[in-house]
Amino acid sequence: SCGICVEKCPFDAIEIINLPQELDDEPVHRYGENAFALYGLPAPEEGQVTGILGPNGIGKTTAIHILAGEMRPNLGEFNQEPDWDTILDEYRGTGLQNYLEDLRDDDVTVARKPQYVDQIPDQFDGKTRELLERTDERGALDDLVERFGIEAVLDQDIDSISGGELQRVAMTATLAREADFYFLDEITPYLDIGQRVTAARIIRELAEEEDRSMLVVEHDLAILDLLADNIHLAYGSPGAFGIITPPKSVRNGINEYLSGYLENENMRIRQDAIEFEEHAPRTVTSGQVVAEYPELTKSYGDGEFSLEAEAGQIHEGEVLGVVGPNGIGKSTFAQLLAGRLDPDTGEVDAELDISYKPQYIEIDQHMRVDAFLRSITDDFGSSYWKTEIAQPLQLERVMEQNLTDLSGGERQRVAIAACLSKDADLYLLDEPSAHLDVEQRVLATDAIRRYTEIHDATALVIDHDIYMIDLLADRLLVFDGEPAQHGHASAPKGMREGMNEFLANLDVTFRRDERTSRPRVNKPGSQLDRQQKKDGEYYYTD
Ligand code: ADP
Ligand code: ADP
Repeated sequence: SCGICVEKCPFDAIEIINLPQELDDEPVHRYGENAFALYGLPAPEEGQVTGILGPNGIGKTTAIHILAGEMRPNLGEFNQEPDWDTILDEYRGTGLQNYLEDLRDDDVTVARKPQYVDQIPDQFDGKTRELLERTDERGALDDLVERFGIEAVLDQDIDSISGGELQRVAMTATLAREADFYFLDEITPYLDIGQRVTAARIIRELAEEEDRSMLVVEHDLAILDLLADNIHLAYGSPGAFGIITPPKSVRNGINEYLSGYLENENMRIRQDAIEFEEHAPRTVTSGQVVAEYPELTKSYGDGEFSLEAEAGQIHEGEVLGVVGPNGIGKSTFAQLLAGRLDPDTGEVDAELDISYKPQYIEIDQHMRVDAFLRSITDDFGSSYWKTEIAQPLQLERVMEQNLTDLSGGERQRVAIAACLSKDADLYLLDEPSAHLDVEQRVLATDAIRRYTEIHDATALVIDHDIYMIDLLADRLLVFDGEPAQHGHASAPKGMREGMNEFLANLDVTFRRDERTSRPRVNKPGSQLDRQQKKDGEYYYTD
């Protein structure tokens, strides 16, 4: 509704909207009186990859605890735990009956990858190899290590490897296990696109070739699309109640989710649709030049890693998307621009103040969120700051919490807010999408775009979620080369040219969904894939 009338629009001007409401039915689980309640459960299926798509705080982890046999569903009776017969009566004749019977009989083995891989070093001491060898129940370890590209970290201590490496180690450890049911809570944080696509293929193979049930929570929609056979959508009111829908085809499920309206449920979950342009935007670089640089080079140590960047210009008010594999010199380039590192050859003609949000966020101070943000900006609490930063980043609810108690997604939002709140010429955000759900990615994208425009600043955003880059960037900087050895940075390019160059490096093409124009990854070798490669059109279609 327009917000004025609660029920029917007297002018018939606006379609009637059903906002998510708590159901009258019995929940699957309720944590306590007036506490969070979950309705519906996902149904894992042998030989299939089942996805769950929905916001944070909507009960996905609760559902997984139940399916993993770590928690018995109480059907809303939080005072007295029901016995299995009562539970099974409830699910007789549904897709979950067999699964729950096996669970009751202790006949399901489960392997799960946690959401926050950064916490693994707190729980495990020792070398990566020792951790992995314990998990190798399928005899698949060598193959997984090679395909995930983690040979180099096997003899390193777990607490010394990067988040992207930890993510792949954790996936290897989970998929090496012998289990009926594999549950992976987010597979993409800290991975580049090549690594994301590899992970998706490995998970699919385990389902198809070994007939396992895979359940994956994922917010990178291009990867979810590639990965899953069907998906459950989750909606409701985060923190209060969550509803998990019956399975939908991946295509329809993602389309409905993006449109903001769930058809079978007759439920609007968002006011506006998230839409993609089929055509590349015309490159507008009307803002003043803030930095101009000739070809730059930089190497570390005895040339173990070297970077060369083509000459280019960056402008006020623009958002530059930065794409390319991990370890290719993206952060190094940003430091050169900011004057924090001196190039070996070439010179940057400007002294730019830079505000930086790193990929791995370390804010361990014992401090409340509001005190932390107040220490960064005098604007804290002003109506302008609230509208531009606090609201889109959904900070109101976490203001009184301690930094150390925040979840990964909350920490990310506070870090983005901190970065944008500083006075600077250049805002560098490294993987702002990590651990954010789809709504939060869209809101963060809007906040970054608006902020850059209003302040005549420039944002450089490194991200691997192709939908987020599409929604965010005016132009692209494309990196390629050999990770950890040498990198090459293109000059800033228009979106069409940049996407073509980037995706050609990856050998991946996208087609458009007929109904919504959403970009979807083509099957390698399909007719469209071959045709688009021949035409040199990897992303935008005309
Ligand atoms: P998601 O995985 O979708 O982010 P969760 O299942 O982790 O969601 O949490 C859903 C809601 O349930 C949250 O509001 C959380 O605070 C609440 N919750 C989770 N565990 C408990 C618990 N043991 N007692 C009470 N509330 C809980
Ligand atoms: P990206 O941002 O694309 O992930 P980086 O610019 O962080 O890449 O790093 C590129 C390469 O340079 C990596 O192999 C990294 O280990 C190495 N590197 C980064 N900083 C230093 C440094 N200060 N000293 C030596 N090597 C470094």
